[in-house]
Amino acid sequence: MSDRPNVYAGVPLDRAALRRKNEAWLTEAWHSPDARILPVWQSRSFVTGPADAARVVLVPAGAALEAVPIFLGLLDEAPIFAVDLSILESPETLPALQDLGRFEDLRSVGPLMPEDEAALCAYARGMAWWNARHRFCGVCGAPAASAEAGHVRICTDPACATHHFPRTDPAVIMLVHDGGDRMVLGRQSRFPPGMHSVLAGFVEPGESLEEAVIREVREEVGLTVTDVRYQSSQPWPFPSSLMLGFTARATSFDIETGQDELESAHWYDRAMLRDLVPSEEFRLPRRDSIAHRLVAEWIAAG
Ligand SMILES: [Zn+2]
Repeated sequence: MSDRPNVYAGVPLDRAALRRKNEAWLTEAWHSPDARILPVWQSRSFVTGPADAARVVLVPAGAALEAVPIFLGLLDEAPIFAVDLSILESPETLPALQDLGRFEDLRSVGPLMPEDEAALCAYARGMAWWNARHRFCGVCGAPAASAEAGHVRICTDPACATHHFPRTDPAVIMLVHDGGDRMVLGRQSRFPPGMHSVLAGFVEPGESLEEAVIREVREEVGLTVTDVRYQSSQPWPFPSSLMLGFTARATSFDIETGQDELESAHWYDRAMLRDLVPSEEFRLPRRDSIAHRLVAEWIAAG
């Protein structure tokens, strides 16, 4: 198993979390000539270059933007902020952004970007998304104001004053094998044509990761699994997941689908997958996904 981070992990910043509470430092950083901004617009990232080799744009002069800054961290010594410009109709025409780039969905350009830049965009996207969807207190319904440079939202009703923190939703993703040369791949109806992937699902309250793996496999394909082993994890801010990758060994082998979102699932041989030529009829998940890595490492291990 390799130690390389999965795509969207490996943000090249010192998150400098202790600075988030320091108002004076943050104000100075925001106005500093070294400050760089990652604009986000309707969950899209600001990039330049061709779609198959996009580069992130770090915009100077953030103070020229009328936006609530979200402090992401330090790149070398330079403070890096995200700003969400979603309320604007066409932010590309702002003087601070003009001719520098365009807004693209990270899901299209991310897999082909330099990995540290894709990770930066993912972090900015995730923070902007969380802030945009937590403008009101979930306890009492009063407005919730941004604090600690966008890393907390505090209810503005003094009688409530609940602090809300950015959420990451854990999801398990698991390669089910038979202990030999077969593994399970399935198809959801929402998948692109031909794509087959490993099983996945969200962790529920009151459940360990291992229990979530066992439950999801049973729900999706009717198999019993054991030997649940952690492999790696991947931030997946589309919109707010953390994918936790596992392998699990089946102790029953008759697949039953139709209970849940899977339209089909089957056992596949290692040799067939190793020699696979991707086609419209059958292909594996995209290369930036932890699903691809789980399958690739299992094939290589045999
Ligand atoms: Zn409240």
